[in-house]
Amino acid sequence: MIVTVNNDSDVRGVRDGLVRLGLWVERFDGSAGTQFVVGPHSAAVDPDDIRAIAGVSAVATKKSPHPKLDAMPRTVQAGGVRIGADAAPVVMAGPCSVESEDHVRRLAEGLAARGVRFLRGGAYKPRTSPYSFQGHGETALRWLRKAADEHGMGLITECMGEEERDLVAAHADLIQIGSRNMHNYSLLKSVASTGRPVFLKRGLAATLQEWLLAAEYCLAHGSPAVVLCERGVRSFDTSTRFLLDLAAVAQLSHVHRLPVVVDPSHATGRRDLVIPLCRAALAAGAHGVMVETHADPAAALSDGPQAVRPEVLFGLLEEMGLPGPHQRRSAS
Ligand code: PEP
Ligand code: MN
Repeated sequence: MIVTVNNDSDVRGVRDGLVRLGLWVERFDGSAGTQFVVGPHSAAVDPDDIRAIAGVSAVATKKSPHPKLDAMPRTVQAGGVRIGADAAPVVMAGPCSVESEDHVRRLAEGLAARGVRFLRGGAYKPRTSPYSFQGHGETALRWLRKAADEHGMGLITECMGEEERDLVAAHADLIQIGSRNMHNYSLLKSVASTGRPVFLKRGLAATLQEWLLAAEYCLAHGSPAVVLCERGVRSFDTSTRFLLDLAAVAQLSHVHRLPVVVDPSHATGRRDLVIPLCRAALAAGAHGVMVETHADPAAALSDGPQAVRPEVLFGLLEEMGLPGPHQRRSAS
């Protein structure tokens, strides 16, 4: 951004005004008079607030590479649930992989009774090894939809490839693009063309800009809304599975003003860190959390070490003001 100062104005006063708004500026004097160039680590400021400073004659802004994302409402709707700045924090929970009809139905029942509005579960699983459990596919989609409907929940599940796109779109309220596919632009375009909102996980080593542009792909190709999900990035430290980037969450929420959800389960790979990091995520500006839950984590077909039992989530739900069983009984 470049701020031009009126010829006869108090340059110092303009600088002070810019600094007060949280901008880092550098002064240039040339044929256009005095100008301030706003540095990249400045706060997000509405150009109209800069124009309102006495002595500013013009503000030039760079064209955004993601105009549709910039224009997207701050709060989006999927499966009857509002996610974003103007809504209560959302909890998405459920198993890593859907293992059986009974398994997902029981989980949905327990979670919904405690205020969880979104059921998650993998029908098609992006497993690192081709020999690991790959998911129950279409059958699992039906189990998930039934469980979500029985308990008035929205449903989020991953689409890994174009072959299953229509089936996933027919069952899910929010289509997840997994971390490994964030850069798969033909999948992004194909999923977006279903007209469903997209839950876009951050690529394992994607920069914020690459992630935002992947979201722009979805909006440019037919998706009405995108929710971004931070799920950890590759790091040098093996004590957690990935490194949860809460600075990116704060930027998305407070600077870009976009809906963002945090997944501490995949970020850490450790169930003991999941609840503290849910709290940290919400404090950093996340509009929700996604947590892998399993009634018997030791027996889970995938990601057992990071799964929490549903009861472990209940304390957090209470802290978040979501209804417990007592409140639900008295409300009905
Ligand atoms: C998942 O949510 O099931 C998953 C595999 O996540 P990610 O793509 O973040 O690894
Ligand atoms: Mn998982």
